[in-house]
Amino acid sequence: MDFIDIHTHATKQCPEILSIINIYPNNTVPKNNPFSIGIHPWYITENNLQLDFKNVEQKLYAKNCLAIGECGLDKLSKTNYNLQISVFKKLILLSEKYNKPLIIHCVKAFNDIIHLKKEYKPQQQWIIHGFNKNKQIANDLIKNNIIISIGASFLRNEKLQNTIKEIPVENIFLETDDSNEPIKNIYNKFAQIKEKDLSIVKQKITENFNRIFIV
Ligand SMILES: [Zn+2]
Repeated sequence: MDFIDIHTHATKQCPEILSIINIYPNNTVPKNNPFSIGIHPWYITENNLQLDFKNVEQKLYAKNCLAIGECGLDKLSKTNYNLQISVFKKLILLSEKYNKPLIIHCVKAFNDIIHLKKEYKPQQQWIIHGFNKNKQIANDLIKNNIIISIGASFLRNEKLQNTIKEIPVENIFLETDDSNEPIKNIYNKFAQIKEKDLSIVKQKITENFNRIFIV
């Protein structure tokens, strides 16, 4: 596989790209394409929760389900924060039960994520998607064995580029999320920032993928 897009909402696929399409509990499972499924903190509604969990758990059995997510904590969301935590905790347990890594949406809640990681000591890899924060937060995440996935936002953000320079490629994934930026451009820019050949970056990210995901 040439390029790996760890988190996308796009359904159009390309043969040289392995992408994990994110779906929501009531979405149809993609036929062959790898996907992740989770309950996003923005879309938690108490009335639907039971059905959402039922849907998630059922769809986790699909062969092409590679991860649980996106899910997580968002302090800027209107969803009650305690409710977000209780949903996230249940998804952590599902991640462990079904051996699926977690793809995490995190806004202003990095301390809580790290705290939960210490509390649950998960076997499954946790991946913070859409990372665009500073060096200190990146270091805290890495120290706690959380992988950082970065997307289009670093292309035009010099501060983030400087942070990325110091993160070992072993701790990184790349993603398109909901941007229109092709994953190839993200790989190219990343290789340029890391001052590495594109082929080396491809190889290292693929190694990360093979270490963490069961395909
Ligand atoms: Zn997303």
